[in-house]
This record gives sequence, C-alpha cells and structure tokens, in this order.
Amino acid sequence: MADGPRLPRRPAVARAQRVLQGRRDEAARHAAAPAPVPAGVTVPSPVAGSSRAPVIELVDVHKTYSVGDIAVHALRGVSLRIERGEYVAIVGASGSGKTTLMNILGCLDTPSTGTYHLNGIDVRGLDEDTLADIRNRHIGFVFQSFNLIPRTRALQNVELPLSYAGVHRAARHDRALTALQQVGLGPRVHHMPSELSGGQQQRVAIARALVTNPAMILADEPTGALDTVSSAEVLGIFGRLSDQGRTIILISHEQDVAAHARRVIRISDGTILSDEITNSDSDSDSDSVERVT
Ligand code: ADP
Ligand code: MG
Repeated sequence: MADGPRLPRRPAVARAQRVLQGRRDEAARHAAAPAPVPAGVTVPSPVAGSSRAPVIELVDVHKTYSVGDIAVHALRGVSLRIERGEYVAIVGASGSGKTTLMNILGCLDTPSTGTYHLNGIDVRGLDEDTLADIRNRHIGFVFQSFNLIPRTRALQNVELPLSYAGVHRAARHDRALTALQQVGLGPRVHHMPSELSGGQQQRVAIARALVTNPAMILADEPTGALDTVSSAEVLGIFGRLSDQGRTIILISHEQDVAAHARRVIRISDGTILSDEITNSDSDSDSDSVERVT
C-alpha cells in the first residue's frame, strides 16, 4: 500500500461546510433565544470535545481490510493514550500499519472493532458530516506530499481551513499571516506553491495545520519527500511547536526522524512493540525509559 494522503473528498468538504453553516445558523438562533434545558439534563455537543480528556484514547483497536476473499489485519489490538502537549513519533517499517493508524487517528477511517475517543469524543458511528467537522476543528494534517492547492497563494492555502470554519475574512487573513510567520515564511505569503521549494511548501502545509489551533497536529511522513536540509528545518519547526505546548503526532519509517520526538511508539505487523519516553534534550546515552501504560 503506497503511503500518501487519503484526504477528505471534496464532496465531504462541501457537506462539512453545509453542516458548519447549519451550526452557525443554529448558534445564532440560540444566542437570540436560548432554548430551555430541562433540569438535570446536559446535552454535550458531539463535536466540542473536552479540554480535560486525553487528546487520544484508543482501546483495543483492530482494522481489517477485505481484499477479495482475503482479510488483511492491518491493526491487531492497538491501545494508546496521548495527552495534551505530547510530541509522539509512531515508527515502523513499511506495511506495519502506520498509515492505517494515522487514518483512524485522523478520523479519515474508522476501526473495525475497538473504541477511539478524540478529545473526549467517541467517534464511533458518527456520520461523515460530523467526522468532517471534527477533523476541521480538532486536527491539523501534514502529509508527505504537502497537498497544497495549486495556483493558489500560500496565504490563501493557509486561510482555507478557516473559511470552512466560517471565520471572517479579516480575521482569516491575520491568523494565516501569523501562522506563516511562525514557520518562517512571512516574506513569501504571496507565492504560489510552484514558486516554493519542497521544504517551503511543507512549511506552508504546517502553517495550514496550525491555523485552526487544533488539538493535535498529525503528520504522516512529513519529511519523506524532502532533502536533508529541508527535513531538518521541518523537524526544527515541530520541535519549536512542541516547546510551545502543541500536541504533535509524527508518523515515520525513519528512526532518526522519530528520534526528534519525546515519546517513540514502535509498531510492527499491526501491534505496538514498544512505547518509550525519550529525553531528546539530554545528551546522555541511557536517556530512554520504558513507559508504563
Ligand atoms: P504503513 O503505512 O506502515 O506502510 P499501511 O497502514 O499502509 O502500512 O498498511 C498496513 C497493511 O494493511 C499492509 O499489509 C497493507 O497492504 C494493508 N492495507 C492498507 N490499506 C489497505 C486497503 N485500503 N485495502 C487493503 N489492504 C490495505
Ligand atoms: Mg504508510
């Protein structure tokens, strides 16, 4: 299975926009006349999430694909908890199940069995519209192939998720500009993707992932298409974002990329082999401790 994005399809995006529009209208109605809530009844929003819950909680997740008569067990009982502010690398050989796991974490696919709570939201059984809304609110995606919109300037590429979220034009512009400055691309905001190097395009993609202030940044092989210098720049940006308290999940088949994270989870054949906290700031050789989960 080739690595690569399985992005929400355009119709899904269009549906998400309709849902968001509906939600804004709904919110406006409620602001005008708050609906009475019966005593003792709390109605949690399906997409708002909780700031106290772990960002990710997977319990015994299996994913099986059917290929003709053959069942491919891509994930075989993965349990995983990731807290706010962690910088985690998921590392494994090709075919070990990394992209399958990323698609589940990113709500681009659902487990065959087991449960997934994202920011306290049980994503099981949610329809595509709601999942698209959850993706836009909670997750910033970074893919190996950047996935920028061609013939669209860096600034507009970064503004896009804010358009889907219904943010006004002036605020969109300011927030996109700030995100591009954070990744060191302030002077190039009006460039087209074709006028930028691979490393610069990936920095635009990181700005686009950041701009909605998501609960986590989910990056699948973000340095896979980059040269050594650009890879180091991109990893440097992730390091700084982590220092600022961002939750980052980086998926890679390269050990040295994974070594930049503060926690490294190794997967093989659809199961977690090891889960270690690494002290990447220390120069000690014995700076890794087994994590007790
Ligand atoms: P990785 O990203 O680590 O290379 P994947 O998650 O892409 O691994 O794949 C894990 C296993 O699941 C592989 O055996 C792959 O062939 C299989 N697989 C992945 N996606 C599909 C799919 N859509 N249909 C059938 N098999 C798949
Ligand atoms: Mg993959």
